[in-house]
Amino acid sequence: MNKIGKHLDYEEFNKSIDNGAIVLDMRNYYESEIGKFKNAIIPDVERSQELLPTVKKMLKNNKKNKILLYCTGGIRCEKASSYLIHNGFKDVNQLNGGIIKYASDVKKNNVKSKFIGKNFVFDSRMSESITGDIIGECHMCSEPCDRHTNCLNEHCHILIIQCSKCCRNFNNCCSRDCADFLLIDKEKRKKIFKSGKIKFNAQKSDRIKPKLKDIKNI
Ligand SMILES: [Zn+2]
Ligand SMILES: [Zn+2]
Repeated sequence: MNKIGKHLDYEEFNKSIDNGAIVLDMRNYYESEIGKFKNAIIPDVERSQELLPTVKKMLKNNKKNKILLYCTGGIRCEKASSYLIHNGFKDVNQLNGGIIKYASDVKKNNVKSKFIGKNFVFDSRMSESITGDIIGECHMCSEPCDRHTNCLNEHCHILIIQCSKCCRNFNNCCSRDCADFLLIDKEKRKKIFKSGKIKFNAQKSDRIKPKLKDIKNI
């Protein structure tokens, strides 16, 4: 029951990618938006509980294929690999130490990184550049962008990718609704929010989609 995937170092991981293994990103969607392994599959799920069942379904015809899992520090892959093995996958492998160790190993050994873009980190920096590529795009105007920010509306605070121009146009908010809301007096905002009459992006979804309607209102 507690079997876990085989741990691969950066060399074995790179070689397996070259040999055509299936690469799966086990992180949250917003993390993969700014950096990932080339050709990695990014499961399109809104909530983390949906991740493993979705992966199982997606790969139901690939149970005999070699599968490579990766995440930020390797912890999440322990559970994920165990789940896949338990569900009949035969060749499950995981990146030892995750992207953090991989990035430092390829740098140390002067090997070209197959992880492109930025690694999302859970501190005030929000991300760490691995290669110079910008693979993300602004959620509002779709310009290339890899900068995460939280909506300034304290009752929303959703995490989005937003370019500096949209950030200015929406007063550091995720939408026109949030920007307008912030013009109201703070105590009054609290009351309105408590009344439940207004729902912001963060209350609607873990992720927001581009809002063209808002762009037109600028
Ligand atoms: Zn933008
Ligand atoms: Zn907002």
